[in-house]
Amino acid sequence: MNSVPFYSLDYVSDSLGSELSSAFDAVQKSGWFIRGRFCQQFETAFAGYCGVKHGVGVGNGLDALTLMLRAEIELGRLKKGDEVLVPANTFIATILGITSAGLVPVLVEPDETTFNLDPSRLAAACTAKTKAIMVVHLYGRLAAMNQICAFAKERNLRVFEDAAQAHGAELSTIGTIFAESGKAQMRAGAFGDAAAFSFYPTKNLGALGDAGMVVTDDDELAKVVRALGNYGSAEKYVNRYQGVNSRLDELQAALLLKKLPQLDCWNQRRREIAARYIAEIKNPAVILPKTATADHVFHIFAVRAESAAARVQLQQFLQARGVESMVHYPIPPHLQEAYCNEPWAENVHLPITEALAKQELSLPMGPYLTDAQVAQVIEAVNAFNPNAGF
Ligand SMILES: *Cc1c(COP(=O)(O)O)cnc(C)c1O
Repeated sequence: MNSVPFYSLDYVSDSLGSELSSAFDAVQKSGWFIRGRFCQQFETAFAGYCGVKHGVGVGNGLDALTLMLRAEIELGRLKKGDEVLVPANTFIATILGITSAGLVPVLVEPDETTFNLDPSRLAAACTAKTKAIMVVHLYGRLAAMNQICAFAKERNLRVFEDAAQAHGAELSTIGTIFAESGKAQMRAGAFGDAAAFSFYPTKNLGALGDAGMVVTDDDELAKVVRALGNYGSAEKYVNRYQGVNSRLDELQAALLLKKLPQLDCWNQRRREIAARYIAEIKNPAVILPKTATADHVFHIFAVRAESAAARVQLQQFLQARGVESMVHYPIPPHLQEAYCNEPWAENVHLPITEALAKQELSLPMGPYLTDAQVAQVIEAVNAFNPNAGF
């Protein structure tokens, strides 16, 4: 029996190998390796792709989150100790970005059908200290941006996006809240005051190493993020802020420039695979995501088992049929040891988040999958019966 790996990046070298090699040669010959023309070109190209003015390349996605928030503090728009509403079931980096900027996460339960922030719970989570919302487009599905941004406007809250899993995800119905922007198309990264992207290798758009970017329409914010990533300096040897070293290097930028034109096509293949999973997986013991529209770029194809025990069974059953799967994520941030003494993590009641952590299972997803592999996954999932031994 052939096995279906959870992910493989072979499709990148198979389809673009020689272009990537030529990008490497071009950087090597240029003799300039940090913040040069490739970085500038990729910043312009990716910001343009997202539909915003500025892109600032940084070292990775976590730095993009942290520096975006630190820049807001330097600009006096947020201050240390301010509360940020954030989905409780996100990847740890979202929360690390908030806490390392000196802000306080307020964990909000997700909608259990979308795994994304539930806008109906925002009002109850607000206090006098709440100053911002950090949205996460989890698994590649756009959060409910029309509702969330309308709520934020009403309450005068800043909005930031953790778009690390959602390169290219596009809003299908542009709400009145965005009407004055005049944009005909709105992609992840264009909704809030600023957005953080990661180009970790397995993301929908990935580098061949670590890389990240902050995108924003805000001139001031872009300048401060750029300075913060360069020792806090906009002018050589003049340090306005206590910065860090977090820059997008030329090599990764040149490689990403070659990959960006393929992103829509890769996302389209992910949606095709998702549409087949949704149409052809018919097993009452496996709860499927709902749509395969442009809102969702299926960074991860997340299904839900009926219980913690059923998930263990399902994962073992698939493994026995050669289908790899993974859990995203087994321990939610508030239950991590790293945050065990934080008041915001201790006195919380998050039953939906905790249930999803026990029941979520991710099926193989990516442009690397062949039709035969997709069929193998579907057959294996359909054959699963939680009540039968195997
Ligand atoms: C990957 C990821 C990050 C962090 O990106 P890195 O480049 O790995 O630092 C942040 N948030 C989410 C939701 C992610 O999936």
